[in-house]
Formats: sequence, C-alpha cells, structure tokens
Amino acid sequence: MSTKSPDCDVIIVGAGFSGVRALWETINRGLSVTCLEAGSDVGGVWFWNRYPGARTDSEGWVYSMNFAPGMKNLWNYGERYPAQGEVQQYISRVSDNFDLRKHIQFDTQVKSCHFNDADNTWTITTAAGKTLTCRYFIAATGPLSIAKKLPFPGLEGFKGDWYQTSSWPKDKIDFAGKRVAIVGTGATGVQIIPKIAAVAKEVVVFQRTPNYVLPGRNYVIDSDDADRIRSNYDQTWTLASNHPFGLPMIPSGKVLKDMKDEAEIRQMLDKSWEAGGFHMQFETFDDIFTDAESNAVVSKYLREKIHAVVEDQKTADILSPKYPFLSKRPPCGHFYYETFNKPSVKLVDIYHDEIDVNETGVRTVKAGDQYDVDIIVFALGFDAATGALCEMDVRGRGGQSLKENWDKKVTSFAGALVPGFPNMFMICGPHIPFGNMPVVLDSKVEWIGKTLEYMKTQSLASIDVKNEAVDAFLEDLNVAFKSTLFAETAEKSGAWFVGANIPGKAKGPLFYFGGVQNWQNWLNKESNDNWSSMIFSQPVAA
Ligand code: NAP
Repeated sequence: MSTKSPDCDVIIVGAGFSGVRALWETINRGLSVTCLEAGSDVGGVWFWNRYPGARTDSEGWVYSMNFAPGMKNLWNYGERYPAQGEVQQYISRVSDNFDLRKHIQFDTQVKSCHFNDADNTWTITTAAGKTLTCRYFIAATGPLSIAKKLPFPGLEGFKGDWYQTSSWPKDKIDFAGKRVAIVGTGATGVQIIPKIAAVAKEVVVFQRTPNYVLPGRNYVIDSDDADRIRSNYDQTWTLASNHPFGLPMIPSGKVLKDMKDEAEIRQMLDKSWEAGGFHMQFETFDDIFTDAESNAVVSKYLREKIHAVVEDQKTADILSPKYPFLSKRPPCGHFYYETFNKPSVKLVDIYHDEIDVNETGVRTVKAGDQYDVDIIVFALGFDAATGALCEMDVRGRGGQSLKENWDKKVTSFAGALVPGFPNMFMICGPHIPFGNMPVVLDSKVEWIGKTLEYMKTQSLASIDVKNEAVDAFLEDLNVAFKSTLFAETAEKSGAWFVGANIPGKAKGPLFYFGGVQNWQNWLNKESNDNWSSMIFSQPVAA
C-alpha cells in the first residue's frame, strides 16, 4: 500500500463552464487543484464548436456565471444570443479575472481515471502517458462534448473536403461558389445551414427527422440594454435559479383549458412566436409538457408557421415534425426556414432512407440519388451525458468499469455521485436537470465544494453513496420523466436526452425532468443532514 500523498487534492477534467466554476470553488475551499483540458484554451464545448453561426440559444443575460461578488462587471455580451467567440472569451475573462489559468494544463487529453482501493486516491493518466494522483476526481466533461462517430464507410474515398461541426478548424473555410452537402438538422445544423447557404453556390441539406425550430430573434445589446442587464444581474440569476429549467422566464399561470376562445389562444402563441426563443415552451401553457391537447395546439401552430414561411409546400411538409412539440429539444433558428426559399438550397428527405458518401459526394441508399458536392459538413450530434465519461477508461472500486456498468444501467445519485466510484464527482454527467447549464452547474459545484469541506473538517478519506439513496433518486427521476408527454415519444423521435440518437446505447432518461428545485432538494437534503445517505471511510493508518 502506498503511503505517499497524492499529487494534489483535486483533479478536474475539463475547463469549460463547469471546470472553471469548479476550479474557483475548490481553490477557494483551500484545496490544491489541477485541471486537465484537452483543448489549447478554456471554453470546453465553446472552444471546439466554432462553426459558422454557433451561438447560445439561452439568452446571454443568463448564459453566465455568478459565483462571486462583482461578476456582473465581467459580463459583456454584445448580442441577445452571444456567438461562440463571445462565450469563449467570457469564460476566458472569468478565468483570467480569478487567475485560474495557472492551475490548468492545456492540450492534455485524459485517457484513464482509476480509483486506488488501497489509499482512496485516483490515478489519472493522460494520452501522452503522464500520470497524476489525487484524492478527488471531478469530471467537468460536459453533457454534449463527445461527437457521434461518423457512420459513413465511403467517407475515406471522398475527394472533396469534409468537416465536423464539433471540431471545426480555427481557420476560416471559404464556402463561396462551392457545392456543399450538410448532414444533420438538429440545433447545430439549424445554425450552420443559413450561414453556409448565404455564400455557397448550392447547398443540399439531408434531413432525417425534422425539428420544431423556434425563431431566435437575435439582436444587438446596446449600452442601455447592457446597463439594465448588469443592474438586474442578481435578480435575473435568482429568477433563473427558481425556474424548473434554469431560465429567467415567468410561467403564464394558465393551461389550455383556461383560455376563453381561439382568439385568446392565438394571441398567446403569437406573442411567444414574436418574442422568439424558448418563450414558446415556457411562457405559453403551463401544461404543454404534460397535456396532449395543449401540446397538440402548440405543435399545430408551429407546423402552420413553417408552412407560412416556406414557400414550397412540399418542402414545408418535409420540414414539419409529425411528433409532439418537445419530444426532441427544439432548436433556435435565425432565418432557418427562410433559407429553404432560396433556389440554391435543396432539402433531401432521408427519414425513410439513409445516406453514404462516395468519391464525388453523397448518395441516398434506397432512392439511389447522387448529389455531387465539393464539401460535406456533418452536424450529427453528441453521445450525450454519458459519452465523455465512457470514452475515458474510468474504473472505480475493485476495478469496475463505469462504461460497463452504464452499458447495463445508468446509475447516479442526483447526477453527482456514482455508487462504487468513491471520491468521483460529476458536474454535467447524466441525471442533472435538463435546462440552462450555467445555472444548473453552479449549484452542483457549490454542493461539491461543501461536501469536500465537510470531509476535510471531519478528516474523512472517501465518500461513496448508499444504493438505497441511488434507487430512491432514480425512482423520482423516472416518475418525473413518465409524467411528461415525451416519455412516450422521445425515443421514437431519436432524442439524445434519452440516448436514442446513438445506435446500441441504453435508452432511458439521461436527464432529470422534475425541475431544478426538486433536483436541488436531493443534494440539499444531504448537506443539511450530515450527508446521511453517504458512506464515508476514515483514513487508513500508514
Ligand atoms: P442533434 O440534435 O442530435 O442533431 C443531430 C442531427 O444529425 C439530427 O438531425 C440527426 O437526425 C442527424 N443525424 C445523426 N446521424 C445521422 C445519420 N447517420 N444520417 C443522417 N442524419 C443523421 O445534435 P446537435 O444539432 O449537435 O444538437 C445537440 C444539442 O446540443 C442540442 O439539442 C442543444 O442542446 C445543444 N446545442 C446547443 C446549441 C446552442 O446553445 N445554441 C447549439 C448547438 C447544439 P435524427 O434526428 O434523425 O437522429
């Protein structure tokens, strides 16, 4: 048994929003910390996803951080939905302000994380073969960071250029005068398609499942707006922290049955459509997530909007989802449907087909149509929630593999701890609330900080979670999910939040749909009650 002290108290893997937030938390609690980051700068998903059109679709006034006094002065977004570069610079500014960079090792990909039973430490090994040991391993690896693998065997022979949105090159790509194929019409595809269509000679969009794309209605934040946002910074944060999805929105307090007539329904939906963004699902009918009739009214309204914007009605039909609104996470678009009115843009429906790539372009397998192009762009999505942790070889007590366990069943306590993996904390792994991530991860990281401080003051060597606590949490998670309409439809429509977008992945809710506050209660109950659902061990005598 090793009696040597670990290299540091904490190793954080990932320097995106959650890694930066966790760095501040752990340093301020007096722990020695190293953060390992695969990219050459901070930002996480905002470092890699620098494709044209990439921007938030939560509003910028709440896509931020608020963990220390005066943070409103670091907030400086210039648009309602800040673009990728602005968000990356924001995370960078926060890191510099708190002098966090000196704790981060960049260009450092983590290959494995192994728990050492003998002394309750973790050994973290990088792709370059370097090892570091720590007492606590914090996975700040993000919910959407591992791209879906490209399933096109013919891609190797393609003579043109191809790009994947999730690892976009730093240098500008010139699409002017080019024939471009774009595969994927999720939130990413919806952002990049209008940008490429604005300059390319021809664009062919391959759509498998259509989405309900809400108009974003982005605008520039002028200095008056910015002053107002800063002076309301704390109130906005509080409002978002008390919202089930972490957004500063105010539910209407009305359900469909409260509406007096068609005109009142129309007025409410028009108002949200004009406001743009997520106001459609969070400020119209409060029962839109649970009542089939209410949801059907909104779904029909959105399909009619698609038909009103898109001139060719056959194209509008293909773009219109048949499943209920919210079965998949709706993207936010900026002139998305309008783009299909351009003569240079063609939509190919592959819902009942599939594609492969060959030397000159993309071919539909069943229909046998060939589309010759110069460039292919893939926006195929992510192996959500579990992907990043499963890609590293994470092994807990007795050498058990996290991936093998999760291939059978994804378990966690409130998305924070996994039984059998002592001293491992997840920030944005599975079972966190579905919602605006910066708000969700803030309270999680604070709880991790409190837990580590408790362990320090009590001189505890390891923390694990009791199976009963995990079972009770998962029961609540499943009940909350089953109360939604999309419990029935998400899997069929291929939603990533139930793992349905990755062939062979276990299906089930990967996120908590009971609201941020109910999820927070699971964590608070522990910190208010001396962590009674946890199993702690004392240090082993040398
Ligand atoms: P996504 O929603 O999973 O979309 C992936 C797209 O690729 C889908 O249209 C999918 O079709 C298609 N696809 C996958 N495999 C395919 C195949 N073999 N052949 C043809 N098409 C295929 O992924 P995403 O667009 O990257 O978005 C994921 C999430 O990331 C979003 O929901 C959002 O939470 C987040 N995101 C956020 C922002 C933002 O904040 N602004 C921007 C981008 C992404 P099917 O639907 O049929 O599977």
